[in-house]
Amino acid sequence: MENKTQTEIQAETQTEAKTIRCLNCGKEFEGDFCPKCGQDAKTGRFTLRLIWENLITAIFGSYGGIWFTIKSMFTCPGKMMVEILGGKRRKYFSPFPMLLLVLTIFILVYSITGSRDYVQKAETAVEASKDSDDQVKYVAKKTISDALHFYNDNYTLCYLLTLPLLAIAARACFGRQNRKRYNGAEYIILLVYASVFVILYRILMSLAYLVSPDVSHKMIRALPLIIILAITACFGKAMGFGIGKTFLRSVLTFALYFLMIISLGFIALIITTLIQTGL
Ligand SMILES: [Zn+2]
Repeated sequence: MENKTQTEIQAETQTEAKTIRCLNCGKEFEGDFCPKCGQDAKTGRFTLRLIWENLITAIFGSYGGIWFTIKSMFTCPGKMMVEILGGKRRKYFSPFPMLLLVLTIFILVYSITGSRDYVQKAETAVEASKDSDDQVKYVAKKTISDALHFYNDNYTLCYLLTLPLLAIAARACFGRQNRKRYNGAEYIILLVYASVFVILYRILMSLAYLVSPDVSHKMIRALPLIIILAITACFGKAMGFGIGKTFLRSVLTFALYFLMIISLGFIALIITTLIQTGL
């Protein structure tokens, strides 16, 4: 009898010892993480080691490693997209932080190397027609030059703003069956990873400008192909299409997206020209 009580007491103290009061929300619990707020049971005082770990987490993400994600993108993009859409996400770097990270690197590289000679070309064209009598032509050229300037200075903003257009184009081109399977947001996620490929290429392009402006200029011409290949890599397995069919649909997607941008740009051009010439 006495023996039993002792075991009971022992069991009780053991459970008490394992119960932790969450430092964040105050809930008492057993286990490695608080069931209410998710804070780690091992959370203690700040140490230099913890600060270091926080920094690394802030830069490289708390979920999947950035290098693992980039490696997966290049070795098995299709499998990676299927897993992410299917909910197997913890091992991968989240899409939007990933996009912002590569965009930040791109802006840094771009501002250092400053590969923007095609903007200057457009400006020279405007200068040349300054004395021309044709006011409408001058305003049109100036607007195109301003638009190019704006696009280059705000590449990130322009890109993010037109991402939904790209998703609409992809949804239209990848067929009715896939529109039922995936919603617009899931298309955007696939396109965000495809964009990471494209921005990595743009970083490479900007770096190439340091070595040779000519090479960088040639690389610009391949940009549409890179975009199409990036969409092909990210969409194929998720859509359940073969590589040829995916490539064709990616070409269509890009063409439709391009058409939408051009139409919007054209409408904007007409409106601004009309306003500026006072017609
Ligand atoms: Zn908690």
